[in-house]
Parts: sequence; structure tokens; C-alpha cells
Amino acid sequence: MIRKVDLVDTLIHKGQRKRLVEELRTKGISSEVVLNAIDSVPRQWFFPKDFDQYVYRDAAFPIDHGQTISQPFTVAYQTQLSGVSKGEKVLEIGTGSGYQAAILLAMGADVYSVEFILPILQQTAHLFQLLEQKISLFHGDGSLGIPGFAPYDCIIVTAGAPNVPDTLIQQLKVGGRLIIPVGNTKEDQKMLRITKVSTTQVKQEIFNDCKFVPLKGQLGWQ
Ligand code: SAM
Repeated sequence: MIRKVDLVDTLIHKGQRKRLVEELRTKGISSEVVLNAIDSVPRQWFFPKDFDQYVYRDAAFPIDHGQTISQPFTVAYQTQLSGVSKGEKVLEIGTGSGYQAAILLAMGADVYSVEFILPILQQTAHLFQLLEQKISLFHGDGSLGIPGFAPYDCIIVTAGAPNVPDTLIQQLKVGGRLIIPVGNTKEDQKMLRITKVSTTQVKQEIFNDCKFVPLKGQLGWQ
């Protein structure tokens, strides 16, 4: 388990973050709010210990239990697509390392996040406790959302789904956005943004190809 003394953020880390922000800008991330959040969150706190040289590469990296901390570009891209603004209520599905959640917190969102794998959730909950950050974390099957706290302004799914779970659309406010990678195979997806236009209508937009670990659970991959 990470300890408070491990939460360092050196000038080298800060410099590497600035370079990462510029790299993300050249790759098409234009939201200053998102770029500022990337600049302000020390990714090394969410990253496996002893791999410091990989922290600010724009790449996903393995964490425990066969899962990954998402690529910074992917985190920035999903966050930009979500259009999340300060004070909005956001549900993240797939807490993992907590990095995406930390970016949303840095943007002033009210963050709810659910993780399927209990030891991952426990480790990340411990980290947020050390950071004294207010976040609502849940252990469970996020393919079903967290209906008890719905409706949400935004739902961001950080694992690849076989379909768009209807239950997640039901948990959006009117005007709410669901950002979800969906694909016919477990390995490849396309990023979708589903906007709930009215209580009965949605608008679907299709964006980049992407590669996420599979969404598990009832409405995920069995
Ligand atoms: N958001 C994470 C981050 O910032 O590092 C990256 C998440 S990782 C790519 C995907 C996570 O989704 C894994 O931790 C995995 O255990 C979790 N997951 C997969 N299926 C899930 C489900 N049905 N409900 C909740 N979490 C799920």
C-alpha cells in the first residue's frame, strides 16, 4: 500500500507533465480545462511504484490483476468528449488506478466511481484517503451503473463494452452524456458519445478507434 511519504511531486515530475501536456495538445486535445487538469495531477501517485521512467510516457501501463492505467491521451480524450464542467455529477465505470477520477476531481466534478475488482478498489480508496479527496467509490458491477445515486450529468466508461447498456442511458439526466468504448471484439472498440436529448431520445456520435480492457459484468463481456 502506498504511504503518505511516497506522494512526492518533484520539479522533474512537473517538467515531464508540462511536456506531456504539449504532446497531448499536438495530438488534438484542445480543452484548456482538461489540459490544466492533466498538468495539475501527479500521475506518478496513481502509477505502479518503481516504474518512474514510464509515468509521463503517453501510454497505458499494467497495474495489478491484469488491468491497466489508461493512456493519458485516452483519459484526456474521454474527458474532453464528456464536456464535464465544474459541479457536474459524474459516474466513472472502472475506477482502476484512480487517475481518470483524479482528473475529473481536479476539474471540480462531483465524482462517483465503481470498480469490479475489490483489491483494486481498496488500494485506490486508500490512495484517495491519503490525498484527502472527496470521492464516492463503490465496489460492484458498473455495467449496471449505480442507480441509487442517479441521475448523472455524465457517465464515463473506462473499459470496452460489447454494447451500449440501456441501464446507463436511463441513469443520465436529460442533456447528459455517456462516453463509452464499444466494439464487436474484446480487444477493439470505437469511442461513442451518447447524448440524452430528451427522456425518450438519444443522439449517438462515433469517434476514434480505441483499445480498452474488456468491461466485465452482466452487461459486459461474460
Ligand atoms: N479509469 C482507470 C484509470 O484511470 O486508470 C482505468 C481503468 S482500466 C482501463 C478498466 C477498469 O475497469 C479495470 O480496473 C477493471 O477492473 C474495471 N472494470 C471492468 N469491468 C467493470 C465493471 N463491470 N464494473 C466496474 N469496473 C469494471
